[in-house]
Amino acid sequence: MSIANGLTVAKFGGTSVADYDAMHRCADIIINNPATKVVVVSASSGVTNKLVALTQATTTSEQSKLLIKQIASIQYQILDRLGHPSEVAAKIDAVISHISVLAERLVLSRSKAVMDEMLSQGEMCSSVFFAAVLREKGAAAAAFDVRQVMRTDSHHGRAEPQIESIAQLAEEHLAPLLSSQVIVTQGFIGADEEGATTTLGRGGSDYSAALLAEALRATAVEIWTDVAGIYTTDPRLAPNAKPIAEISFNEAAEMATFGAKVLHPATILPAVRQKIQVFVGSSWTPEQGGTWIRHQVSDEPVYRAVAVRRDQTLLNLHSLQMLHAQGFLAQTFATLAKHKISVDLITTSEVNVALTLDKTGSDSSGHGLLSESLLQELSQHCRVRVEDGLALVAVIGNRIASTAGVCRRVFEVLEPHNVRMICQGASPHNLCVLVEEAQAADVIRALHENLFES
Ligand code: ADP
Ligand code: ASP
Ligand code: MG
Repeated sequence: MSIANGLTVAKFGGTSVADYDAMHRCADIIINNPATKVVVVSASSGVTNKLVALTQATTTSEQSKLLIKQIASIQYQILDRLGHPSEVAAKIDAVISHISVLAERLVLSRSKAVMDEMLSQGEMCSSVFFAAVLREKGAAAAAFDVRQVMRTDSHHGRAEPQIESIAQLAEEHLAPLLSSQVIVTQGFIGADEEGATTTLGRGGSDYSAALLAEALRATAVEIWTDVAGIYTTDPRLAPNAKPIAEISFNEAAEMATFGAKVLHPATILPAVRQKIQVFVGSSWTPEQGGTWIRHQVSDEPVYRAVAVRRDQTLLNLHSLQMLHAQGFLAQTFATLAKHKISVDLITTSEVNVALTLDKTGSDSSGHGLLSESLLQELSQHCRVRVEDGLALVAVIGNRIASTAGVCRRVFEVLEPHNVRMICQGASPHNLCVLVEEAQAADVIRALHENLFES
């Protein structure tokens, strides 16, 4: 079959598939749009966090038992509400037993491949349930194991999708199924060439939806979540945040990169490659509309949004070698690259370099980036100081670096706060400040008030 035209891929996040009632609401959204042929689901809210806890070395066997019980309870509550639970009960039972087996295997060997297998179990359950709910409502629907098509490398915890293979596999295994039914599949997970389960990093289901949309040459991706679109800042932080009706790929990518959790930072990449429109809306209030992310938009304001990325690490490197010498930065970056660390922000002086580490789309299992061996290696050619407990606040918009008065409006409200680092000038789309994490919420609210509420 040739791949459908006008196809929409819809993704539902954790709160949208938290329980039976939530899934029911989401099923209506699918049924009301015949163009939606592929549904990508996250694990039910809270399940992935519990699975992550099961993979941690510090979790005791008593705690493991409790976590498995809690996960089972979330899943069986959904099962019990289904009209025909027997259709899927065996599958859910099998997943719950598999979780216990994996927990035991992790005690013997802390294999990253087993951890990913563990983390994938939440999505396995929610996809089976969601397909059952759709069928209950009269739609032809089937669950599909995304590992048949979502080919990645073997970098467990933060696997890299193999775009060409995914397109080929989707054409072969997924596209032929779409003519007669809605396919419900898992976000966040994939498989490497050997068939081992991998994960794309926390929050990766948005990315999965965009990757499948790219592979199937869909025309739209819908990200259904618990907020009615992308706002001028996180509405949980600033109640006066306003929804944005339309935003460009560039601006949305900046927002996602700088911590607007509503979208996984990599989501935009496949959409840009294939010029696929992305919609973000609330599965609770779909009638309210949401945000369209498009290639071209009618309005590109100087100030679009403010975002915050927490849990930032600042590395301060001091070396007299830097003074009137060459090669220090090259050496530093080579060491960081060797340890697979990507640098985010950077400022330099005569003998110091300050840089923050890019934790974007960090490892699914929540492992830190700074290893002892990296610190030792850096210490061989400079003095290293590590500061934690920081947050990066970004003002996002257009022509930021070439518009007079931007700095005044940003810094006038930062007066009571200690700004550890400032980055401005490299990008026309952002101005960033590093502040103490405890002050981040106040900084966001003050900036939002000054830039968007006055
Ligand atoms: P899902 O489970 O559906 O993927 P997430 O929790 O990952 O949902 O993302 C939705 C959350 O993103 C919202 O509840 C909101 O608190 C947060 N968020 C952060 N920044 C923004 C923003 N600028 N606009 C909207 N939501 C935001
Ligand atoms: N369930 C995964 C997580 O919690 C992926 C996602 O929700 O996007 O990170
Ligand atoms: Mg998310």
